[in-house]
Amino acid sequence: MIPGQAFVVEPWAIRETSLVLDRLAQTESVFALSNGHIGMRANLDEAEPNGLPGTYLNGFFESRPLPYAEAGFGYPEAGQSVVNVTDGKIIRLLVDDEPLDIRYGVIRSHERVLDLRAGVLRRVLEWESPTGVAVRVTSVRLVSFAQRATAAISYRVEPLGDATNVVVQSELVANEPLPAASNDPRVAAALESVLQSERFEGHGTRALLVHSTRASKRRTACAMDHVIDGPSGTRIRDAEVDPDLARVTAAATLEPGEHLELVKFLAYGWSSERSVPAVADQVDAALTEAMHRGWGGLVADQQEYLDDFWAGADVEIEGDEQLQQAVRFGLFHTLQAAARAEGRAIPAKGLTGPGYDGHTFWDSEIFVLPALTYTAPAAAKHALRWRSRTLDLARERAALLGLEGATFPWRTIHGEECSSYWPAGTAAFHINADIADATVRYVNATGDEDFECGVGLELLVATARLWRSLGHHDARGAFRIDGVTGPDEYSAIADNNVYTNLMAQRNLRAAAAVVEKHSERSRKLGVDREESAGWRDAADAMVLPYDEALGVHCQSERYTDHQRWDFDHTAPEQYPLLLHFPYFDLYRKQVVKQADLVLAMHLRGDAFTEEEKARNFDYYEQLTVRDSSLSACTQSVIAAEVGYLELAHDYFAEAALLDLDDLEHNTRDGVHIASLAGSWIAAVCGFGGMRDHDGQLSFAPRLSQRLTRLRFRLGYRGHCLTVDINHERVTYALTDGDPLPIRHYGASLTVKPGTPARRAIPKLQQRPAPSQPAGRAPASTMAGDRPAAP
Ligand code: BGC
Repeated sequence: MIPGQAFVVEPWAIRETSLVLDRLAQTESVFALSNGHIGMRANLDEAEPNGLPGTYLNGFFESRPLPYAEAGFGYPEAGQSVVNVTDGKIIRLLVDDEPLDIRYGVIRSHERVLDLRAGVLRRVLEWESPTGVAVRVTSVRLVSFAQRATAAISYRVEPLGDATNVVVQSELVANEPLPAASNDPRVAAALESVLQSERFEGHGTRALLVHSTRASKRRTACAMDHVIDGPSGTRIRDAEVDPDLARVTAAATLEPGEHLELVKFLAYGWSSERSVPAVADQVDAALTEAMHRGWGGLVADQQEYLDDFWAGADVEIEGDEQLQQAVRFGLFHTLQAAARAEGRAIPAKGLTGPGYDGHTFWDSEIFVLPALTYTAPAAAKHALRWRSRTLDLARERAALLGLEGATFPWRTIHGEECSSYWPAGTAAFHINADIADATVRYVNATGDEDFECGVGLELLVATARLWRSLGHHDARGAFRIDGVTGPDEYSAIADNNVYTNLMAQRNLRAAAAVVEKHSERSRKLGVDREESAGWRDAADAMVLPYDEALGVHCQSERYTDHQRWDFDHTAPEQYPLLLHFPYFDLYRKQVVKQADLVLAMHLRGDAFTEEEKARNFDYYEQLTVRDSSLSACTQSVIAAEVGYLELAHDYFAEAALLDLDDLEHNTRDGVHIASLAGSWIAAVCGFGGMRDHDGQLSFAPRLSQRLTRLRFRLGYRGHCLTVDINHERVTYALTDGDPLPIRHYGASLTVKPGTPARRAIPKLQQRPAPSQPAGRAPASTMAGDRPAAP
């Protein structure tokens, strides 16, 4: 355990050895369990105290009005907020007349462990009641990867002294009181008592609650059943139910050496169409299936699912134990956010908290899907399918804005634009190219032709049409995309944002290529040769602003002429700037919230020379304040590419430790899935130097001094490629399949199954790294400002 840090450093688990009430809300997010369909914050079994109670179902939301003081044409008028649904986690305990509440009595020991291989959260508590009666409570919680609608908890209590009377109450609670929301725009809107009861019933140890939302007309059902094991004389009271509560109670007198154990099975479902009986039956069936599998079966299935995942996805790091732990934690949460989402979005916080109202953003396609594409491709495919299901809404939105094709929402749960008018959201058209980029990557990495000619084609055509209508050829024939916002949200409605233009260029070319390949299907979408030739012309003539005097690309036209932000007179407590300065002032100065041009150099590295990358990185590094968690991983990737390996290491650590160390002080609202997936990106694309331009895998690996080895696996077109890097050489190995052509530092190489290919790593010309704005350098174990693992 590192002093000041919440968790023990170990390779495959996140362990907390004592309960710190001030960190409860953070740890509820860190220890949250999810399978992409159900999400449960790690609220204590007994529900109180809590930081923020939370149980979420992907896609289940309530609508709310988005009022404006001054209305404008096309402003979205309804927002969507994720709902805290019926809480099935609650198991209360009475010990000889005293309710177990850790704020009273004595906590002799308290340990929680998130096991990244088993996919369970374990808790062991030894507690002495205010009257001096001591018990041990052991609970194990899982949200099943194998059975999408299922969660389960094993709860066991045993006396630590003389015979003890215990009563265990297992509950379902709807409309739990929630703490008031703050003024931080990144926090969720507070919605109270949104669930209206439609049915409640109980038989024996089984109970069911069905509720619906008033405005969004979503219906949810939650059911529980139990297997209870106690000494003879254990009394079980049948389920008691009322509209917002169901309770099953077991009471026993436990002699020393005896225990009372309850396994609680939970099933969740929701629908916007199905009737009360249909949704009730759906969860009843899921519950029966879970009980049929039994606790042991669910635990075994969970392990098997994760064994399979880690076999193809693990990232091993030697030399920085914290980073090893954090990168696995990041991958685990990335998987949890998406694994069984199946036709739903991947929210910015996954299903670990209500931050950003549960919305999904461009984060999903640019940070989360790249990691999933190479580690859990089915999840990436489902996320893209979800986008394609929202195409009609995106087409309507484009028509409303006077544009062709589709305009995907900046933030949403169901597919409607939920960003109230805000230049950074409404004009952030790059999300459309981001979706296209993720589509192209998925198809290249999997060779999934069915997807390509169906969902892929539709997405690429709709987004290419958008770009063709949003941009125009100027008098000299150049193609301009004016008045848009790029990834840096401290700059808005600018002309020819390099990131947007390069991503649109790739989008237009990819659409033209796929249309040529699938001409018959394309004709059905109304695409003819003239249209696709127009896309290519626009792509070839794309404007990319460059400042000749400074020798750097302009983030957008005239950006480098703007006044620089006065970093020297900005106090540390004035970050994030968005909470302390007006947007108009941020917009007109050179200050970068999150990597923008630098992100372009990662995703469209094929469009820059080595010298341009180095100069651009140096320039933008001095302007980038990282007021968003979506920056450090990208800065790590390009810092590694241009040769600043220690800086790359520090950014990698920042991306990976964001939630474990609560670096932005808002992990309470949910973990930052993009940054956690970004830790995979920093490992694989940063130190691994992996790129996938035009569908070919290339590598240029190089480690920081602090690392001795990095080994990762990638799924690519049915292959499992292992890349094993140390300071001198890299070994590429394939287990089976056809030989795989890749590039190593620009040279072609074919990796043959069973014959690992070894290559030397060229020596690096060291250069001094640029500095960051005052006070905005990442913490570093080298400088001693991040405590190193003992
Ligand atoms: C970033 C956005 C991002 C959102 C959700 C903000 O801080 O600036 O680009 O989409 O967080 O993660």
